[in-house]
Amino acid sequence: MQIRILGCSGGIGAGLRTTSLLIDDDVLIDCGSGVGDLPLEELSRIRHIFLTHGHLDHIAFIPFLVDSILDDLVNDPITIHLQREILEMLREHIFNWQIWPDFSKLPDETNPVIKYEVITPEQQIVIGERLFEAIPVTHTQPAVGYRVQSADGGSFAFTGDTRSTDRFWEVLNTHPELKILIAECAYADHEEVLSQIAGHHRPSTLAEDLGKLQHRPELYITHQKPGEEEQIMRELKQLLNDWEPKSLQRGQLFEL
Ligand SMILES: [Zn+2]
Ligand SMILES: [Zn+2]
Repeated sequence: MQIRILGCSGGIGAGLRTTSLLIDDDVLIDCGSGVGDLPLEELSRIRHIFLTHGHLDHIAFIPFLVDSILDDLVNDPITIHLQREILEMLREHIFNWQIWPDFSKLPDETNPVIKYEVITPEQQIVIGERLFEAIPVTHTQPAVGYRVQSADGGSFAFTGDTRSTDRFWEVLNTHPELKILIAECAYADHEEVLSQIAGHHRPSTLAEDLGKLQHRPELYITHQKPGEEEQIMRELKQLLNDWEPKSLQRGQLFEL
């Protein structure tokens, strides 16, 4: 299984893209602006999107993706895996015939180019030889992280957007074989109030949460606010003595 980081920033700016991870050539976790860098030929192979939640930085490029590869999706639709509340948000606010057409009814209702699969936290979904496990986290709306396992057992986990949470770490504690952990840390420590309101980690809350994990996978940090990347990493390195946190990079590849 290959994991390619298409976007891992909390915002935009030259060289920055919002959250999207490509698993092999056909599955996305989130569909932020990083997807827009793929050539059309690679876009046309995507058939599944697992959403962590419905915030714009994670869904913004679904409408453009579907529109760009529309002909390929007729009779071979793309499936979006998401919680029911997030499906309702997409229907009401994005695919509502005003902001964008409702592609779950095009070209016709019986044979659409988008299909939705509602997931519930802790559900496991197998796509080909890969297993995706949705694990609840704590954000400002219903949100999940994912644990993804390859055919030979190698696995990684991604927190998605979250502040301090419990169940995610409890579930990961049952998987000591976990090789890579991608954890969000959106703000530096001086943004205490903002990080609480926005439902994101800052270094001290992430360090506290990582204390709940009983094993030590490789740790990569994602979703930093533009301009605060270096400060966040400095603060994390001071707090995490028994970890070696690295900043996740756009274009980075992992093989599991
Ligand atoms: Zn969010
Ligand atoms: Zn986000």
